[in-house]
Amino acid sequence: NRKKQPSVKDLVSGITSGNITALSRAITLIESTNPTHSKKANEIITKCLPYANKSIRIGITGVPGVGKSTFIEAFGIHLTTLNKKVAVLAVDPSSSLSRGSILGDKTRMEDLVKNQNAFIRPSPSGDSLGGVARKTRETIILCEAAGFDTIIIETVGVGQSETAVHSMVDFFLLLKLAGAGDELQGIKRGIIEMADAIVINKADGENIKAAKSAKVEFNRALHLYPAKASDWSPKVSLCSALKREGISDVWTMIEDYTKTTSENQYFETNRNNQNKFWLLQTIEDRLKSKFYNSAKIKVELPMQIALVETGKTTPFAAAEYLLSL
Ligand code: GDP
Repeated sequence: NRKKQPSVKDLVSGITSGNITALSRAITLIESTNPTHSKKANEIITKCLPYANKSIRIGITGVPGVGKSTFIEAFGIHLTTLNKKVAVLAVDPSSSLSRGSILGDKTRMEDLVKNQNAFIRPSPSGDSLGGVARKTRETIILCEAAGFDTIIIETVGVGQSETAVHSMVDFFLLLKLAGAGDELQGIKRGIIEMADAIVINKADGENIKAAKSAKVEFNRALHLYPAKASDWSPKVSLCSALKREGISDVWTMIEDYTKTTSENQYFETNRNNQNKFWLLQTIEDRLKSKFYNSAKIKVELPMQIALVETGKTTPFAAAEYLLSL
């Protein structure tokens, strides 16, 4: 039967020999909500772990229109000329609402998608950021086992998804635009704090002057933040993703970062901390979903909510009761 699903063993040997079809199929299992698929996915991930290559995981964020896909395409192509194998993944928790991801969309990276040494996968859909993030993290492991040494994770610069991406990458890059009024207004402080680099895109044509002064402003602003645990001082650079200028500088910067943080061991410590974080996060997610999906809770929760609303019980008593079920 040719339609028979490949076994875990076949998929693992396919992935570890760099077979993209096997990789894609295994990622589909990770993304599936079917418990049999999840079980199979878990086995594959466990078996792939020892093969996960030395890699660099790079998070890229920025508001819509800043040039993320243009940048990732230019950057990805540059990396493949350096004989890197590049996987592009995305975290977009809204994709289930907008029916299909806008991020990591293959049609937005036409040149990169044709490249033999690149693999692009749109954001998994999911009803929660936690679920989407977990699936993406698992996908990273499979991509690494398939020989991809540079993993790029794109996310849109609104909401909580940057924090999730920050906690799964080694290097976090914030794409910005110059000349949008007061450079430092309207930027979420937390995002600047997470950034290892601020890259000002669209530094071309009439924008160049504004981009240069934005660079000065950002550099000044970065000095106001406390030193990072990585001992790395975040850098600001200019680029034109469209003209493919300033792209190699970004890669040089990331190589510097890798060197610095490998020497001071932050690179490894950070990955270990991230693993711990994701262990606890997964437990929390599972407990929550088990609780909310239980048949008893589905019946009792609305009743307890009604009782709380009419003042017949307290939130704490209601919670205590529901948890005891
Ligand atoms: P995303 O929404 O962040 O992924 O942004 P896109 O990559 O789709 O780019 C949004 C628009 O900006 C497109 O029309 C791009 O052609 C344009 N764009 C992207 N990078 C540059 C750049 O470096 N210079 C200029 N002038 N335009 C750019």
